[in-house]
Amino acid sequence: MKDFLSPEISHQEQWKLIKRHLDYASQNSPFYKQIFKENAIDISAIKNEADFRRIPMTTKEELQQQNLDFLAVDYTEIIDHVTTSGTLGNPVNFMLNEADLERLAYNEYESFKIAGITKNDVVQITTTLDRRFMAGMAYFLGLRKLGAGIVRTGSGLPGLQWDSIKRFKPKFLVAVPSFLLKLIDYAKQHNIDYKNSSVRGVICIGESLLNEKLEDSALRKKIQELWNIELFSTYASTEMATAFTECEFHKGNHILPNLIYTEIIDESGKQAKNGEIGELVVTPLQVKSMPLIRYATGDMLMNIENNCICGRKSKRIGPVIGRKKQMLKIKGTSLYPQHIQEGMNALDISEYIIEAKKDDFGNDSVCIKISEEVLIKPAQIQEILREKLQIKLEIQQISASLLLQKKFPKESRKPIIFHDLRSI
Ligand SMILES: [Zn+2]
Repeated sequence: MKDFLSPEISHQEQWKLIKRHLDYASQNSPFYKQIFKENAIDISAIKNEADFRRIPMTTKEELQQQNLDFLAVDYTEIIDHVTTSGTLGNPVNFMLNEADLERLAYNEYESFKIAGITKNDVVQITTTLDRRFMAGMAYFLGLRKLGAGIVRTGSGLPGLQWDSIKRFKPKFLVAVPSFLLKLIDYAKQHNIDYKNSSVRGVICIGESLLNEKLEDSALRKKIQELWNIELFSTYASTEMATAFTECEFHKGNHILPNLIYTEIIDESGKQAKNGEIGELVVTPLQVKSMPLIRYATGDMLMNIENNCICGRKSKRIGPVIGRKKQMLKIKGTSLYPQHIQEGMNALDISEYIIEAKKDDFGNDSVCIKISEEVLIKPAQIQEILREKLQIKLEIQQISASLLLQKKFPKESRKPIIFHDLRSI
């Protein structure tokens, strides 16, 4: 079994891993060989983080367009072929060999440990393990490494989820937070005593449980009002192949410094200060098949440098407040779709999508399309959002079936709430 060191490694030990990663990429990745050559970068001359930051960032477009150039091992070595979720454009192919699958297992093992899961617990995975989804497999492999009990129910099917909870008594679920609301609804309709079930905690993916002030988001509050369980936020992506996980204090997600080097870059291109928002740029460490260096994730989040109450040495990141490309500028106010979503969650409305377009003058314009079945009147929603966001947004009612079509496009692994039509 490979030794991935520990999340408690020192700064110097992490630097050694970065250097080793640079050497590996420069010898094995056709893409980075070319980048270093074009930019006259001598790897052996990189002595510190300031030198490291002179390496150009890698973009999602490069990963998409020159996909196979990123492959640093023989194609026949690849075991798992997956794709990114494709929230912004086409999904990107990603590949893992034996060593990467071991790393993925170790990564999730550490993530589950941060959330307090032990080998004595049973965990029910309510996300898909297939559909080219890396995370589903990662959960399974991580729990297997931990030695915990695993129930693979897959996504959807609230009836099967409750039947499995009754049969196998899981202490934890892995779930998308909004799916927990569906589970609660189903339990209420079918007289299931969900408040006294075996479930004590949920490892959550995909939706933020904190707002920018590191307070509980409307979604977390709503779930916990209905069901007294502990929710752990996690943040991850296919390209990072690394999870960032909340500890029991729920104030930002811990970084695993032995598996990933993170930078948070502000608008001027400098490292964001403590508490400031910037774009997360990552260098996943100890990856073999598709090593990335300074990969710009497009995710905007807060840099948290001060130590956590839990005593872990690792730094944390705040919740994703938006994607760089999704930033909306409306009448001089900048905001992200997540701000609108947070407002809609607070209003307890889930049947809606957000559409962004350019108006005739090239300015951003936003329309929130809600199902006609929503009981709150559009004018009232508009007023409440205006108080929260300081801008007046257009609200339009559409039929429930049209909304469903737009929100769940065929072949999507998750609902699409934000529809960016600005470049069309
Ligand atoms: Zn902590």
